[in-house]
Amino acid sequence: MEESQQLLPKAVPECPFPPMHPSYLERGAEFYMKLAYNQALKAWKSGEVPVGAVIEMGGEVIAQAHNMVESTKDPTAHAEILAITQAASKLGDWRLSGANIYVTKEPCPMCSGACIMARLNTVIYAVPDPKMGFLGGAIAAHEVKTLNHRLKVECGVLGDECAELIRTFFALKR
Ligand SMILES: [Zn+2]
Repeated sequence: MEESQQLLPKAVPECPFPPMHPSYLERGAEFYMKLAYNQALKAWKSGEVPVGAVIEMGGEVIAQAHNMVESTKDPTAHAEILAITQAASKLGDWRLSGANIYVTKEPCPMCSGACIMARLNTVIYAVPDPKMGFLGGAIAAHEVKTLNHRLKVECGVLGDECAELIRTFFALKR
């Protein structure tokens, strides 16, 4: 390979995973996480690290988004931030009290902060991130005693599937 070619960014590998088919008859945690997983697949197909997020309120999906950092060249364009902005716009209120976010990977410091500031009820994430996760992985930001909002956090829904997705993405990209 010529030197000039080596400087080009590596192409994103083709995504080998088919979309999931959430059943609209069983609207539980798995249903929303499957939608988030499908968002993560969309991220992969558009050349992004595959992370997806869905916000649910009263059984209704009010936002769906995926990581768009590369395409927008914006370091804040994480799935959770985009979903929170969508949900707030839809509700016409920055307070997302009573809403829950489902995300395929544990939120980073920025997104953990945004979940707290948006007054979300619960964050449900599939895969813990011991390096960058701020909701229990590296740090438990939601447990800081002085915060004026109690954010609930749950982990593990579709954990294996979402871990496999991210692991494969980075393995193929290498
Ligand atoms: Zn983030």
